[in-house]
Amino acid sequence: MDDINKLAVENRELKRLVHLMQNKATRNEALLHNFFEAELLMLSCSSLAELLNYLLNDFRQHFKLCAVGLVLFDPEETAQELLDSSSITLDQSHLRLLPTQQLLREIHPENRLFYGQPDSRLKQQVFEHSPVINSCAILPLIRENCLIGSLSLGSMDPDRYNQFLSYDYLSHLSSVVAVCIENCIRRETLQRLSSIDALTKTLNRRAFNLQLMRELKRSSRTDAPFACMLVDIDHFKRINDSFGHLTGDRVLRAVAELLKELVRDTDTVARYGGEEFAILLPGCDHSDALQVAENLRQKLHAYPFETHQGTVLNLSASFGFTICEPKDIATEDMNGLMEQLIHAADQALYQSKERGRNQTHFLTLNPKSSTPLIAEADQR
Ligand code: GH3
Ligand code: MG
Ligand code: MG
Repeated sequence: MDDINKLAVENRELKRLVHLMQNKATRNEALLHNFFEAELLMLSCSSLAELLNYLLNDFRQHFKLCAVGLVLFDPEETAQELLDSSSITLDQSHLRLLPTQQLLREIHPENRLFYGQPDSRLKQQVFEHSPVINSCAILPLIRENCLIGSLSLGSMDPDRYNQFLSYDYLSHLSSVVAVCIENCIRRETLQRLSSIDALTKTLNRRAFNLQLMRELKRSSRTDAPFACMLVDIDHFKRINDSFGHLTGDRVLRAVAELLKELVRDTDTVARYGGEEFAILLPGCDHSDALQVAENLRQKLHAYPFETHQGTVLNLSASFGFTICEPKDIATEDMNGLMEQLIHAADQALYQSKERGRNQTHFLTLNPKSSTPLIAEADQR
């Protein structure tokens, strides 16, 4: 009888252990599934802002953490520039972009992962804005033997990260995060280099043409007109000849800055060629665009440009623009329409040059005719 009892007790104990192990296996499976999902989401992010937004917000909710913080080594402010120019506004209170690796080395001596209860110094270093952290895992982000960052996962539960847990998946996560961050920065930097003019830091002609195509499609959806404008500095060659190419370059940069400053954020300014700029003005009809052009023309004319010799020079520029009405977009041939828009603005600019420079002309776009009609002359 005793033996039977003993066996029954053993049996119950074994059943309890099996049940515990089953529970643990189910929990691990769910955790692994969550990790796969998070990995796929990170790998599909197409920009640094999107990736960091995911890590600092959605990831935290996904894994029921009370804080996620990120420190990144950003010596050339590449990451900061990408975030600044992104359309995604990122809450940066849990993100630190640092010019040196000093803090990262303090957090991860010998590139080691940290887990457990953070002391007050560590809390201050990585969870500055999250006071209630009772356990945490702090993952070093390493690429090609270089410590590029640190991802900290904080929990209120003191047992969430302790020495009894397996940390293989956290090491794996830190590798995936590091690769994703590096990929996003590389990809976006390449994209920027291929669309930004090195001298003026405005978009280049290629990027402008892409933007023009986007605008055509948007305009056909929203039924709003837009203006396409060309600006050419008058007698620019004389500036180079009189003051040298360095002053010429400086003037080009200043003109680009001024144009960007004077138009709306939603407008596009690009360097279209040597001393020629192109501007897209969404939602502008003829009278809006004329007002913008005349404002730009007058401000450029009045602006005191500085030469390398320290003297002040004044210049002028000629303007030409055309308006794309939604009815114009009733065509299959978007590329042809794009060419017509640029051609019309260029012809209008040519009128401004022909009639004495420092003025604005406008041409309507007539898709049925190969040459645009001159609708208005000398709008000064
Ligand atoms: P117009 O009023 O008819 O436009 O006369 P312009 O002198 O402005 O035009 P032109 O086409 O005769 O000369 C343009 C000059 O712009 C010639 C070229 O050397 C200069 N240029 C083009 N790109 C750059 C650049 O990146 N830097 C400098 N410094 N000059 C440039
Ligand atoms: Mg010129
Ligand atoms: Mg020119």
